[in-house]
Amino acid sequence: MTPHTTLKDRLRRIAIAAACVPPAVLLHELGHWVGNTMAGLPDATIHYASTGFRNQPAFWSALRAGDMALAETMGSVSGAGIAAFLGIAMSWVLMIGGAWLVRRPSIRPIRIVAAAIVLASAVRFLPVGVMFFRGAAEHTDEAHVAQAFSVPALLPALVLFGIALAITSIIAMFRRLPVDGRRALMTDLVVGVVLGTVAWLNFVGPAVLP
Ligand SMILES: [Zn+2]
Repeated sequence: MTPHTTLKDRLRRIAIAAACVPPAVLLHELGHWVGNTMAGLPDATIHYASTGFRNQPAFWSALRAGDMALAETMGSVSGAGIAAFLGIAMSWVLMIGGAWLVRRPSIRPIRIVAAAIVLASAVRFLPVGVMFFRGAAEHTDEAHVAQAFSVPALLPALVLFGIALAITSIIAMFRRLPVDGRRALMTDLVVGVVLGTVAWLNFVGPAVLP
């Protein structure tokens, strides 16, 4: 930590990082929602950490059972697959864009926001990875893409690419932070994103966008 970094500075950085979680999560969900809406899926909704459409659980369980015809009676199967992918793609874009923006050293608040967006978007790949390696990833976005297009190999391909991209983006972001005080800044970003994620998923999100 540089001598001029006060506790107040650090608390402000933690607050900025925490505040970046809702936009990162909602942009991912917006990707799904836009896809669901454009595909004409009935009653497309957006919530604090998910999206929906009419009969969504029955739709995906029909696809998992291989009953494409039944699923198609509830909505466009390829449209739902594209919508599932758009959420994933949004997280990819946010990680790449954030890591790129961190490079702008002259704009300090944007640097912190960009770095926090990378972490906030990378968070989802941790549970997705754990579920994948436990063989229980059938309800993830990645699995939905594979199910909708009847290409099982898309599940490992999308999960592993997402994890690799998350790790690469975090490393690139970290290396682009100013060397002076880098560890303290990274600590504040991680603390902020963890606090922001816990707060958004448990209290704030359900209250704001149930
Ligand atoms: Zn999603």
